[in-house]
Amino acid sequence: MDRRTFLRRAGLGSAGVAAVAAPVGTYALGHHLGATQLDGNYQQSVRAGQQRGAVNVWWSVTTDERVLALTFDDGPTKQFSNEVMDVLDRYHVPATFFLIGKLVEKYPDHVARMIADGHEIANHTYDHYSAATQSIDEVRRTVELGADAVASVLGDRPRWFRPVKGHITGTLLSAAASIGHDVAMWSVSRDPGIGTEIDDMVGVRTNYVDSVHEGAIVIFHDGIGRSGFDLTGPDADLMLARRTEIDALPDVVERYLEEGYRFVTTSQLIDGFGRFETDDPGAGDDGGGDL
Ligand SMILES: [Zn+2]
Repeated sequence: MDRRTFLRRAGLGSAGVAAVAAPVGTYALGHHLGATQLDGNYQQSVRAGQQRGAVNVWWSVTTDERVLALTFDDGPTKQFSNEVMDVLDRYHVPATFFLIGKLVEKYPDHVARMIADGHEIANHTYDHYSAATQSIDEVRRTVELGADAVASVLGDRPRWFRPVKGHITGTLLSAAASIGHDVAMWSVSRDPGIGTEIDDMVGVRTNYVDSVHEGAIVIFHDGIGRSGFDLTGPDADLMLARRTEIDALPDVVERYLEEGYRFVTTSQLIDGFGRFETDDPGAGDDGGGDL
């Protein structure tokens, strides 16, 4: 089993990964995309270099204990969130919901139930655009507004942020660091790159069951991305894909419980089991100064 701990400490100051790496990529990219793009990337790298702070990025933790964090992205939605919470309630397991700010404003009652049911809530941007397609100001805006939307129900900005489509950029890490987020990715999904059909419930269930491991962060969805805004109408394929995931959910939870897994929130997983590890015995645990 591949039980990897990926903890990157991107110290976004003078010795930071993003700040050091950015100029190299800048010139290579600018060569292909022209002077305007070069200038834009240069501005971003300069501003990333002015950033202070750090952000941790977690895919999973390394532990021998059968513990996992179940997570849901893209809610709250009227289509799926209550159904998901009913399943979690039935099995008495907690989860972490990575919420879209715009939908938090639309369905605050769903979010209030998540909190009342003992789940952790977290930020998944305000409007669900990938950081890979946005300017630094747009990225900062969507991360901050997403955090503020969650705070409107929670009382405080949440600890955790998950990037849209898992797209991590230097700008995104900078924005996350500036408001004190840590970043939660995932290590177990419905389809680990083997092309499961969107309506293949048995295949999806098998993928979840077969790829689980101690310390996993497992990703499901209780939403349909930007389709949840009702701007374009629900995306039929995405609806079907989500339906398939949620149909598989009760069986997956049951199997995890049968195999002795204990369900915890993302914060409980990281605080209880997370530690910085490296394959390089000569490296310290204080970040990437030698990179
Ligand atoms: Zn998403």
